[in-house]
Amino acid sequence: MAYGSFQNCNCAYCKRNGGFPRHVYVRTINRNWFETPKNGTVSIKWGCKLNRVDVHAMNNTGKPSIVVYRDPVDRFRSTFLHYFHEDGLRYKSKPEKDFGNGIEFFNNLNYKIEELSLHERAEILLENLKKLDTRFEVHHWWPQVDFFNTDDIEIIPMSKINETFNIKAILNQQKKVDFEFTNEQKNVIMGVYTIDYDWFEGKI
Ligand SMILES: [Zn+2]
Repeated sequence: MAYGSFQNCNCAYCKRNGGFPRHVYVRTINRNWFETPKNGTVSIKWGCKLNRVDVHAMNNTGKPSIVVYRDPVDRFRSTFLHYFHEDGLRYKSKPEKDFGNGIEFFNNLNYKIEELSLHERAEILLENLKKLDTRFEVHHWWPQVDFFNTDDIEIIPMSKINETFNIKAILNQQKKVDFEFTNEQKNVIMGVYTIDYDWFEGKI
């Protein structure tokens, strides 16, 4: 595992599934797939009717395993808004979920998130990536190279999920938000995920 700028993760999801990489047999298309968080996994699981029975159930499909690739800045933006934008599903606690959220993360750093602009939140987050821990299910933030463990893969971009997995719609849980990182912030993010750019370059 590379982790890069991030901690290891021991959250309930990682524990239940024996951690990552998570290699899943997708019966509906007779292919194996490596789950990469934030790369269309909800759409794939829902669209292909995956359940816990499928997990670890690998068949010899005779084909390489599928890995979905997402531009690292776009992926980081999605995760960032998920945790740190008011409309994000991880911004505040939900009664049934006992894990950290955006408000708590900033509280721990002695900031009140609601007093900060999105760019200020991004700035502070980028200085504190190492503080994302198990409580915040830090695996969501790991580089994409951490989610597969063989070269026998077929890499597909997010735009090809529908045809590859034979599913109809991409679920978009995140409301559209008009936000872009500053160029400086993009450069920092690209630095954090250099390992992804290096590995996937020329392969997609
Ligand atoms: Zn985890």
